[in-house]
Amino acid sequence: MANPEKITVEGVEVDTRHWIGGERVASADGATFTTVSPIDESVIGEVSAAGEAEVDAAVAAARKAFPAWSKTSPAERAAVLRKVAEGIEARVEELGKVETRDNGALLRSHLRGVMPRVAMNFRFFADYLEKDLDHPDMEVAGRGHRERITYDPAGVVAIITPWNAPLMLATWRIGPALAAGNCVVLKPPEWAPLTASLLADIAHEAGLPAGVFNVVQGTGVDAGAPLTRHPDINRLCFTGSVPTAGVIAAAAAPNIVPLSFELGGKSPLLVLADADMDTAVDIAVEQFDNAGQVCLKGSRILVDEAIAEEFTKRVVEKSKTLKQGDPRDLETDVSALITRKHFETIDGFVERAKADGATVLAGGGPNTELGGLFYEPTILADCPEGSEILTEEVFGPVLTIETFSGDDEGVAKANDTRFGLAATLVTSDPERAEKVSAQLRAGTVWVNCFFVRDLGAPFGGSGQSGIGREGGIWSFDFYCDVKNSVFAP
Ligand code: NAD
Repeated sequence: MANPEKITVEGVEVDTRHWIGGERVASADGATFTTVSPIDESVIGEVSAAGEAEVDAAVAAARKAFPAWSKTSPAERAAVLRKVAEGIEARVEELGKVETRDNGALLRSHLRGVMPRVAMNFRFFADYLEKDLDHPDMEVAGRGHRERITYDPAGVVAIITPWNAPLMLATWRIGPALAAGNCVVLKPPEWAPLTASLLADIAHEAGLPAGVFNVVQGTGVDAGAPLTRHPDINRLCFTGSVPTAGVIAAAAAPNIVPLSFELGGKSPLLVLADADMDTAVDIAVEQFDNAGQVCLKGSRILVDEAIAEEFTKRVVEKSKTLKQGDPRDLETDVSALITRKHFETIDGFVERAKADGATVLAGGGPNTELGGLFYEPTILADCPEGSEILTEEVFGPVLTIETFSGDDEGVAKANDTRFGLAATLVTSDPERAEKVSAQLRAGTVWVNCFFVRDLGAPFGGSGQSGIGREGGIWSFDFYCDVKNSVFAP
């Protein structure tokens, strides 16, 4: 289908072509894909679909821009990145509305949390670059030689992102990659591609030179795969599912490209016997945020049997007060699932769990009143140990509740997963909090809180939840070639 180049989405003009070398480019063969809104399954528009030629052009543009950009001073780069942040802040509402239409996540969350954080992804790393990157010289023990450690930009960074929080997850990588002096090629998700295009406009207006930031739109197979096997990329960042990560790791292996993988999870929410009940219930129900399409979600609720009855009753009651509906309504708590295929996947998980003997405490199926892609917030209990619903990532509004007896059994159950992205612990005892959190295997452990993190702290997954850590200096460790120059005395 012909690419109309520009479409209007929620009153905002979006260019649907690629952004390569500082120019808007349609695919040479005119190929497009359709982006559909999860809210009502309506077609939003046609978007250019890249193939090998467009990916090659984007990587070449980034390579061409690299010498000049990598030689700019940290202060120059920080100044441009702060302007990008200002551009995002000025367009929070537009970005929020477009992303809500495109991926169905709550407008309320986009306006209050997500888009301001997107701006922070640039501002924070601009500040960090100026303040914290200098490493004090070291000395070779007993020899007197001086060692200078420097952070040299790596080159061209390829970034591939998922649909559940597309702009947030892209900019969390783009911010530090650019701050470090690299050039970037972004391949956004084909299910929610539009805000990446708006980011290209904002970056251009902020004065980012041509070729420093490029966007190639398209599917994983046609646009993502050529990027991952490209011999001229120096870093590869992927956020998405474990099966795709396996394919990407194999594609990148011949080029020995360093990888940063942020993948799926099956995170525990561990509620100890002394937990504050209000806190525990609030955190449990918060797991329905973004219709459960959150990698960090504590979808496996584990509660000490001493308080299980009251906790379960209150979580179920509270979950039933959640308002499901159009995510553009600021009162809505739970929206729709991203695609029909994903909706069917979620329903398949729930139906198989029921067949396995699970008890449905809340929800348990499609929201028949709303229809479309709305799936009821679902809570399941009595799921057989080791069953699929307790071990596989569901990535929808589905929580399971299991009980345990005593902290040791709770920890053992929490750690009984091949994932290790996050874990949440609820307890009123600070000593117990220290002891139990130390035993949990996860990249992030939240104690009596959820989803809070400073951009200076490390983020990443253990086990199959990922490779590497980013945030603060960990980002620069990845996006730079860290060099040691040894000077004779
Ligand atoms: P996905 O793996 O299907 O797709 C992610 C991206 O990879 C998309 O842009 C897609 O086009 C691309 N892709 C697909 N096949 C490819 C290939 N062969 N080569 C190159 N690129 C390819 O994941 P999804 O369904 O978009 O996202 C959901 C998953 O992402 C869940 O598992 C979720 O837990 C995970 N996730 C993780 C984090 C994190 O920070 N750890 C954050 C958000 C989502």
